[in-house]
Amino acid sequence: MLSIGLPELLVLLGMLPILAVTVVIPYWKIFGKAGFNKWLAFLMFVPIVDTVILWFFAFSRWTVAMPPPMPARAACTKCGNPLTEEAPFCAFCGSRRT
Ligand SMILES: [Zn+2]
Repeated sequence: MLSIGLPELLVLLGMLPILAVTVVIPYWKIFGKAGFNKWLAFLMFVPIVDTVILWFFAFSRWTVAMPPPMPARAACTKCGNPLTEEAPFCAFCGSRRT
């Protein structure tokens, strides 16, 4: 039979702040970056609720603003390499920009 005495209990209680810090801080940052309420990090200590939040988090639409897609750049008609904005000639093959 498993029994926990006072020394074991004190060790477990001593580890609690370490566990709290190592779990809450990463979840705090992740939830914040994803655009969620950072205080959800503290619910990650509640059994079953943590799993529900994890699944909700994984499959929900993150509200954080994504960077706009790169605009389509002009490409050389001869070699296909990208052309710089102002260049009259292709930097790769030297052909004139059309
Ligand atoms: Zn070219």
